[in-house]
Amino acid sequence: MRKKIYIADTGGTIGMRPGVRGYEPSPGFLGAQMAKMEILKSPLMPGYHIHEYDPPMDSSNMSPSAWFDIAEDIAAHHDDYDGFLVIHGTDTMAYTASALSLMLEGLTKPVILTGGQIPLCEVRNDSRENLITAMLLAVREEIHEVCLFFNNRLLRGNRSTKVNAGSFDAFDSPNFPPLGTTGIDIEINTSLLLARPDVSAPPLRVQRLNDSPVAVLRLFPGISAAVVKNLLAPPIKGLVLETYGAGNAPDNDMALMAVFKAATDRGVVIVNCTQCLKGRVRMGAYATGSALREAGVISGFDMTPEAALAKMFFLFSTRTDIHEIRSLMQVSLKGELTE
Ligand code: ASP
Repeated sequence: MRKKIYIADTGGTIGMRPGVRGYEPSPGFLGAQMAKMEILKSPLMPGYHIHEYDPPMDSSNMSPSAWFDIAEDIAAHHDDYDGFLVIHGTDTMAYTASALSLMLEGLTKPVILTGGQIPLCEVRNDSRENLITAMLLAVREEIHEVCLFFNNRLLRGNRSTKVNAGSFDAFDSPNFPPLGTTGIDIEINTSLLLARPDVSAPPLRVQRLNDSPVAVLRLFPGISAAVVKNLLAPPIKGLVLETYGAGNAPDNDMALMAVFKAATDRGVVIVNCTQCLKGRVRMGAYATGSALREAGVISGFDMTPEAALAKMFFLFSTRTDIHEIRSLMQVSLKGELTE
């Protein structure tokens, strides 16, 4: 029997049209174009139902409550479809993929996010290929996790990051190999995929995310302790700190280190993620990294800042014990880090 997928069309460039202020979402436009694509009627393609969000949006406008709407939408249709495609803008796709990977607990079917750098309506575009192949991937029975498909690569959603604003090769998964590649053949590396939840496990559950007061801060030479102190003042609960290299910070700035220490003593969770695209945090490698550890900062290992941020939203929405949040932050929940 022909398999069928549910397409959650949240918006993004793929379905946009040119307007006077630049590309903008256009209600009904993606669905109308897909309806005209003969290739999508091929018996080799899965059947699909498309649900366009109201309004379809540029992904710069995404939020935790929008992530929740997507997760709920998938859960509501989970039993009726073989897989799920989330049409999404590229700008914050890695954040949404990271969040969905944590919010959808007990997922047994593929959830694939995709989009395009050039809209489907343009003569030259990447959206067509991304769409068609992502639809085929969304019915692969061996996938039980949230993935991002772009430019011939299937990436673990919570390992992905947008690396290029001007190329079709917009995404990378710097610290984890692609789960699959699509050339002449569609090749999936099944040894890398997350295992299917046990049959005795509870059915799919969706975790709502609260609007927790969390932030991301990128260190830079000359950063002011006074400014950071303001950021770390209540009500903040968590901070993803993007540090230098293997997780280092200016340990000669005693005022700054004292600000970090005072915040962690108060219970603020500060997670150390490197500014480098590749590699991992090793806070004992340099004295400048040890200083952060002494200030109570915990390691984000090789997590992307997107995954670390989504994980903070998730943990602050599901836990109250700071010790538990700190310890879960440092273990892999859905393949987002290598311990
Ligand atoms: N600004 C667009 C978005 O994120 C970019 C894209 O989709 O490529 O919705």
